Amino acid sequence: MSRTPAATQGSLDNLPLADRLRWLLAVRVGVVVLLPVAAWVVTRTAETPPVETLLVPGAVLLAVGLVLHKLSSLGRRWAVAAITVPVILDAVHLGWALYVAGGISGPVVYVIVLHVICVTLLGSFRTGLKLALWHSLVVMSVLKAVDTALLPAHGVVQGFDPLPYGVFLVAVWVTAMMTSGLGAVNERELRRRRYDEEALRRLAGALHEADTGAKVAEALLDFTVDAADSRLAAVHCHVPEGSAVPAVDLAVRKHRDHDAEPLRAVGAPPPGSLLAAAVDQGSTFLAAVKGPDRWVDDVLEGARRVVAVPFGLDGSGSGVLTFADDARSGSRIERRRVGVAEQAVAHAATAFARVALLEHLQASALTDGLTGVANRRAFDAAFDRELAVAARSGAPVSILIIDLDHFKKLNDTYGHQAGDDVLRGVGAALRSCVRPGDVAARYGGEEFALILPGATADDAVAVARRLRTVLREVEAPRPITASLGIACQHGAGLSAAELLATADTALYAAKAGGRDQAHLAGVEGPVTGVAVDEPTVARIPLPPVPTRAHAAL
Ligand code: GH3
Ligand code: MG
Ligand code: MG
Repeated sequence: MSRTPAATQGSLDNLPLADRLRWLLAVRVGVVVLLPVAAWVVTRTAETPPVETLLVPGAVLLAVGLVLHKLSSLGRRWAVAAITVPVILDAVHLGWALYVAGGISGPVVYVIVLHVICVTLLGSFRTGLKLALWHSLVVMSVLKAVDTALLPAHGVVQGFDPLPYGVFLVAVWVTAMMTSGLGAVNERELRRRRYDEEALRRLAGALHEADTGAKVAEALLDFTVDAADSRLAAVHCHVPEGSAVPAVDLAVRKHRDHDAEPLRAVGAPPPGSLLAAAVDQGSTFLAAVKGPDRWVDDVLEGARRVVAVPFGLDGSGSGVLTFADDARSGSRIERRRVGVAEQAVAHAATAFARVALLEHLQASALTDGLTGVANRRAFDAAFDRELAVAARSGAPVSILIIDLDHFKKLNDTYGHQAGDDVLRGVGAALRSCVRPGDVAARYGGEEFALILPGATADDAVAVARRLRTVLREVEAPRPITASLGIACQHGAGLSAAELLATADTALYAAKAGGRDQAHLAGVEGPVTGVAVDEPTVARIPLPPVPTRAHAAL
């Protein structure tokens, strides 16, 4: 955990500063004013200096402390001074109190020990050790001052004697070391907690920004490899189709020093896998993987100790965060690491549900509800985008406008519901005809459109021909045919509206030419249809399928 940035900051960061200053003030009232006076009362003899010699400097010290306390709100420098300066002055005052009330064998020695304990606990183990050194020097100076008659000896207060001074040193240093030891453990724990809180805050920020499931997964995995200190972590989410909430199937993995990578989604946790066991158990567990587990071997690269933190997704699905635990085998995993992973998962589960809904809404806003293909809005955006890409790259882009033939008659004859069923079937047929990257859209009513980025006119004609075949296979009360208008352009040229108008003109030509055929803009006659695709039944001569004529567009 040496990489915690908090470890490089001053120990002042471990507790709220204002709290520590308040406590320090209380300690000072007791240790610096009341106890020395009590010691004076206990050890008083006829030669003891008057109590004012303790009360006046004590009051001055308190006043200085209060002023610094007030100034501490001005900034860190003043806050550090508000702790350091009074502690140094208090040690000097206690040295003086030791001289006034009983010397090295008197009760002030215990007050000094108490002072070291309090300051170590309120400050840091380093402050405690520095203070022990300072007390040792101050007390030695006081005793030497008596020795050299700089301060007059009185009553039992004598000069430097190695034995009682040695006992004093042992008492102060043993106390300082023991309290420091405890304090150091405490400080480490506090630093870790601070670091975890900071990491959780960063995670919350990243989750808030995330607008896709992948980004949520990435934020969770970044956190896990860092705060849970794992070299390899993965997250799986699965909400089946048909649930009350949108379906999710997501799997992402991250190595400590690499970017998160998407994995092939495993769908529902495979039975018998650690993933399934985690979901069944429903609570965090640490598994020592003894035999081969195909899932662990694939995803966590054969980790032998795996922590699994399952989570629910809106009651309909499940997710699991898993990470390799690199601790020595046989040793127990730190409770803290599991705790932070559980907290992170709780945040991430909410974020997963939120982005799933968001993604669903976004997809719905761009999808035609009846046919499942892109809607007009998505079509317009995609067409503009593809034309811009083509303009930059000089690549071809083709557009097909498809209008079902005599659809009104089908509606009138078989009912609107039957018409809807046919439109659904046509949507599925269109999707089956295109490649990834192509866009199938419902342009309106019984009109559809295909955007084919990178497709030449020949390619577009081939798609039109395929479409003619698949449309005939659409389940319908009577065979479905369509008329198509095709336009193609290479690189920059016509605007979206102009290219659409060109395709529209070709479509009207197809309608005028007898329907069930496709026309390519700039080419006379049909490029698909009975006359072209089925020449054996054609009675008219075939027009040639153009190859370069579209380039004029
Ligand atoms: P043409 O061959 O000239 O294209 O004739 P058509 O009957 O297909 O063309 P027209 O434009 O006259 O009619 C289109 C019909 O499509 C009219 C409308 O009832 C029908 N339609 C449009 N949207 C829907 C829909 O969402 N569901 C159903 N069932 N029918 C629709
Ligand atoms: Mg129409
Ligand atoms: Mg029509």
